[in-house]
Amino acid sequence: MNITLANGNGGEENLSLIHKIFFKNFSNEILLKEEDSAIIEKNLAFTTDSFTVTPLFFNGGDIGKLSICGTCNDLAMMGAKPKYLSSAFIIEEGLDIQILEKVAKSMKEELEINGAKIVCGDTKVVPKGSVDKLFINTTGVGELFIPNISSSNLKEGDIILVNRDIGTHGATLFIQREGIEMQSTLKSDCNSLYPIIKELKNVPIIALRDATRGGVAGVLNEWANKSNVSIEIQEEAIPVEDRVKGVCELLGLEATHLANEGTFLIAIDKKYLEETLKILEKFNKNVSQIGVVTNTHNKKVILHSSWGTRRFLEPPTGEILPRIC
Ligand code: MG
Repeated sequence: MNITLANGNGGEENLSLIHKIFFKNFSNEILLKEEDSAIIEKNLAFTTDSFTVTPLFFNGGDIGKLSICGTCNDLAMMGAKPKYLSSAFIIEEGLDIQILEKVAKSMKEELEINGAKIVCGDTKVVPKGSVDKLFINTTGVGELFIPNISSSNLKEGDIILVNRDIGTHGATLFIQREGIEMQSTLKSDCNSLYPIIKELKNVPIIALRDATRGGVAGVLNEWANKSNVSIEIQEEAIPVEDRVKGVCELLGLEATHLANEGTFLIAIDKKYLEETLKILEKFNKNVSQIGVVTNTHNKKVILHSSWGTRRFLEPPTGEILPRIC
């Protein structure tokens, strides 16, 4: 059996590879929690991510901005303040040094937004053709300021919100790669989330996750699975921009399967709904209450359409858009 692109899709095949090879060999209590970051000491969160996006520069960001957002967001999603990062560059021989300078500048700007520092790193140059232009790995350490966030904690009655409209990162990259002309310029949501999570410090967050590869459907299914609950979603409550809907029609995809890089789901107790909405609205007016946790079909996500029909919302399978992050 050989590795396929689907093994890196952030969905089912990706999870199955991780379980079959990596969990089997590296198994330990912390790893098996499968959270966005590992909590390694009482107050320390630790995570890593590699970035292979193509094109290197896209509307709304570039590989540099993404490499800081991705790792800092995974720390923020565990309720941690991003503090120290490493960065490792794998550079293809022949890359224009101006490109590297531009990428580093983007990283610097995003580090400042997070109040984080790169404190160690590595640089490798490989022969032409061994890698496509530039790959970056970042690892990050953060300090916990909201405790007990976990995808295993959801319970009946919890409310699920999304902080903004979904799917713009995946849709933007698709448009740019295919050279599709659209009147208006669709922009990736690529963004640092720590400034938002910082404002939520007094809300007892139950679960929090950025909907990167695998999209919103991936996160909801993972939560339903890990917490052994069902999640009921109102389709019309999910904010999707018209241009993103257009891309979905072209691709034959659901917006809930598209990747995001600055969009997250948050689960809270009903009594914190008003307070949470008020904070999230300050950052994006498209914040929406999309669903609720129930016990009707455990480990499943149920999508209620505006026509009154119901179906299971499955996590994405296959790989239609590789190298989106
Ligand atoms: Mg994540």
